[in-house]
Amino acid sequence: MGMADQTEVIGRLEDVVSTAEDFDRVVAQALPTLLERTRYSMRRFLRDTGQWSEDTAHEKFILRWSAEYLERFMLSGRNEVPCRPLYLLDAFVAKLHSRPEPFCYHPELLTPLGRFIDGLVARAVVSRDALIALYHHCYGMSPRDVIAVTGLSESESQRIYKNFRRWRESGWQRTMEMIGMTDAELEELAAEQKRHHQQFTHEAERVIRFAQDHYRKSEPDYYPCLSRPEWEAMFSEAYGHDYRLWHLVLCMDCVQKTWGLGPKRMPIVEKPRLEIRVRP
Ligand SMILES: [Zn+2]
Repeated sequence: MGMADQTEVIGRLEDVVSTAEDFDRVVAQALPTLLERTRYSMRRFLRDTGQWSEDTAHEKFILRWSAEYLERFMLSGRNEVPCRPLYLLDAFVAKLHSRPEPFCYHPELLTPLGRFIDGLVARAVVSRDALIALYHHCYGMSPRDVIAVTGLSESESQRIYKNFRRWRESGWQRTMEMIGMTDAELEELAAEQKRHHQQFTHEAERVIRFAQDHYRKSEPDYYPCLSRPEWEAMFSEAYGHDYRLWHLVLCMDCVQKTWGLGPKRMPIVEKPRLEIRVRP
């Protein structure tokens, strides 16, 4: 984009837009500019709080989070008209960073293991394939295990196989590209897991727990943990299938609490234990 075009784009973003449609149009035309601005703000915030380093890990990290912020801004900003999109974005990003302990400040999310887990769980929130694949990546489960653990019916089971297949064919690869995990980093993760298995699993559990807490909140209806009797009722009366699929893989406590509640004819599955799988 030439200098003149760039100035023109910024100019439009500084003007008041009065309808949601105008907001969508102006923002859609200026995505690269807005993304660059979000990255710049994030970098500044991290630098101001002493959490910035000049390396690729940090660059990849803000790239992913900027894209996520921008996506949220596009959804919520259109409800704020009339507004000046450029300043609304600045306010929006500042607000996300002024909350106590913003999620993305967590230093553990900057390690390869942290980025891997955070990326997978973040993807699971928007993609059903990724959500189902989390059962594999966290617990090493097969489609049959997933069906047994969540107590799905015959008709829903077919979808689980499809989810696994699509994830293996393309979903995993695409997600790794999105979060910027290189082959070398993935190999190093697997090697580290072999070398220091216990410590690796221990660290993974810590990251998974707070990533789960964070991302589960994006579905407030599916957020609360249920008691064992409540789960039991849900399993035996065959309702809440979406709830089970979503909550159980995003809550280490509940997946253990519900173990064994599936129909008796289901294959016996070992009690879920954290066992990270790097590859699909
Ligand atoms: Zn729970």
